[in-house]
Order: sequence, then structure tokens, then C-alpha cells
Amino acid sequence: MIATQGYAAQNAKAPLSPFNFNRREVGMYDIKIDIQFCGVCHSDLHQVRNEWGGSIYPMVPGHEIVGKISQVGAGVTKFKVGDLAGVGCFVDSCRACANCKVGNEQYCENWLAGTYNGYEMDRKTPTYGGYSKCIVVDENYCLKISDKLFLPAVAPLLCAGITTYSPLRHWKVGAGQKVGIVGLGGLGHMAVKFAVSFGAVVTVLSSSPSKESDAKQLGAHNFLNTKDKSSISKAKNQFDFILDTVAAEHDLNLHLSMLRTDATMVLVGIPSDATPVHALSLIPKRKTLAGSMIGGIRETQEMLDYCATNNIVSDIELIAMKDIETAYARMLKGEVRYRFVIDLATL
Ligand code: NAP
Ligand code: ZN
Ligand code: ZN
Repeated sequence: MIATQGYAAQNAKAPLSPFNFNRREVGMYDIKIDIQFCGVCHSDLHQVRNEWGGSIYPMVPGHEIVGKISQVGAGVTKFKVGDLAGVGCFVDSCRACANCKVGNEQYCENWLAGTYNGYEMDRKTPTYGGYSKCIVVDENYCLKISDKLFLPAVAPLLCAGITTYSPLRHWKVGAGQKVGIVGLGGLGHMAVKFAVSFGAVVTVLSSSPSKESDAKQLGAHNFLNTKDKSSISKAKNQFDFILDTVAAEHDLNLHLSMLRTDATMVLVGIPSDATPVHALSLIPKRKTLAGSMIGGIRETQEMLDYCATNNIVSDIELIAMKDIETAYARMLKGEVRYRFVIDLATL
């Protein structure tokens, strides 16, 4: 066993605090990453507070992990000691089901091993995430990280990046299309960067009017305040595609009204409560409501390579490990500009 330290939640109400635990020894196909930076996803907060139910404690959150490899197993072929590497939202999957076979490990039919708040594929060893000093992961579930980009700002690509890149690619968002991005937070700001980079005409649909200038700076062409009902009614039947990243309950029918005929709205935000959708929000113009979850390893690598080529990273605020609760509080108020990243040198 490899002794390490992290920050953990002991239950849904307690603030995160220092936690000592063990990583497994580096196996034949494993790499050990000394974690340098870990992004703070709203999913960390949902799970720490048990907002989706079934949380496993103690919980060491964190699934936007980047760092340097300090050890590799004898059978490792893709990485060597000293390389940068990343880990996203899962650390293993069954590798045998139809989805795993085509590189959609995130939809593993035998349920994947989440990076934290889950179990390894033995279904009994708890997984612990990136709010920690090191992690040991099978090389097939690790990503290559370019040294050309500012490393702390690369970390959020491992979740916020791939979660927005994947649906934009899957639904073939491209040049000339009118795209709406709902919610300008960690996911939302990456969605804006990707959609703009793919050539779309992008509108940010935000509940925070103060974010208008940031939206434009991120490359968005238009900004719509979702609290202003008259702007929404003027935007009816406009968008070819909407990506909804909002973390809390909101009226989906309102956003669906802005889709044009045959267009699709994809949910990636996961509010804890169910949201009613009226059939008549979809029927009259043959609209589609869909969902999407992170992305597979192959596509995550494709996204990281795309970012390295096109110089795309996250806009971040670097924080010390001890300030995580303040970061969570600000995230709840929608005050993230636009991703908190923990500097693990402070742990
Ligand atoms: P975030 O940084 O907190 O951003 C969420 C944004 O939602 C806020 O910045 C805010 O933008 C908007 N919002 C509107 N009403 C809100 C309210 N009442 N409370 C809080 N936010 C509100 O969160 P994130 O890390 O981007 O994550 C967004 C959601 O995606 C979370 O539910 C997360 O669990 C989920 N997620 C899903 C996947 C997936 O695979 N599908 C992956 C990662 C995360 P405005 O101020 O612009 O309105
Ligand atoms: Zn995440
Ligand atoms: Zn599988």
C-alpha cells in the first residue's frame, strides 16, 4: 500500500477535512500520478452533500486531475516516469460490454468505476479522488497531457471540457449554427469556448446579467438574461441547439421554447430534483430533449489534443486546499469565474 493524504467529507454535513488513506501498489498496467492540480466541479459539491443520494463516506472528491507520473508498472506502454498525465471522472470500466468496446466507457453497461464516490470493479474497494497527493490508475484510463498549456487551467478539461465537447461533437454543432449555452459556470464557459471554436453563433442564456461582459470576452456573440421573460419570448424558435449546464432547478419549458423546428436541447446539468417537461414543449415543432454524460477515453484524448492545438484552456481561480469550503459556498451562489482549481502543493 502507498500511504497518502487528502481532504475528505466524513458525512453530508461536515466540512471537508484532512484525511490519511492508502492507494494500491502500482500494478503491472498502473501509473502513479503525483497530483499537482485538481479542478472543483459542481458534481463534487452535489456528491459531498449527498444531493443525488447514495453517497459513500469518507469521500475524497475530485475528478479533474493533472500531475506528473512518478512510477509506472512493468507492462505500461503509453506513459513513462516524468510525463504529465490526467484522470477524469472514471478510473475503470468492464472493458467488455458494447459501449466499452466502442470507446463509450462512460456508458459502461456494467457500471464504471467512478474516480471517487464509487468502487473499483471488484465492487468493494472504495475509490478516492483528486483532492489528494497521488493516485494510482490503470494506464488505459489515463490521458496524455500536453506541456504546451498552462497546467492548472488544463485540469478542468478532464470533466467540464469533455462534458461540453462531447455533446457539441455528437450533435455536430458547427459553422453558422445558432447555439444557446444555458448557465455560465464551469461547464458553461467551456461550452462557449468550444462552440465558438467550432464556428457556431453562440448566445449565453444566463440568470446573472453581471456575466454579460465575460460572456462576450469568452467569445459569445450574444447574451440573454433568462430572468427577463420578454427577451425569452423574442428568442422563440431561434436555436439549432441548446446545451443546458444549470446545476439547480429551473424551467426547462422556457428554454425548449427557444428551439427551432427539429432542434435539440441537451441536458448536462444535474439538479437534484426532477423537473417537469410539458409534452407541448416538444410536440408542436418536433423538438428533442436529450442528455449526455462526460465522454469516453478516446474522445477525451481527442478533446485534450484539440485544446493543445487550438490553445483552449479553462478560466480558473487557483485555490489552496484549505479554502475548499469557501469555494463551495461561492459556487452555490453562482460566483465561480469560471472554475476553481486546487493547488495540491498547498496540501
Ligand atoms: P457551476 O460552475 O456551479 O455552474 C452552474 C451554473 O448554473 C451557474 O454558474 C449559473 O450560471 C447557473 N445557475 C442558474 N441557476 C442557478 C442556481 N439556482 N444555482 C446555481 N447555479 C445556477 O457548475 P458546473 O461545475 O458547471 O456544473 C453544472 C452542472 O453540471 C452540475 O449539476 C454538475 O453536477 C453537472 N455535471 C454534469 C456532467 C455530465 O456528465 N452530464 C459532468 C459534470 C458536471 P448563470 O449565473 O449564468 O445562470
Ligand atoms: Zn465533474
Ligand atoms: Zn462496459
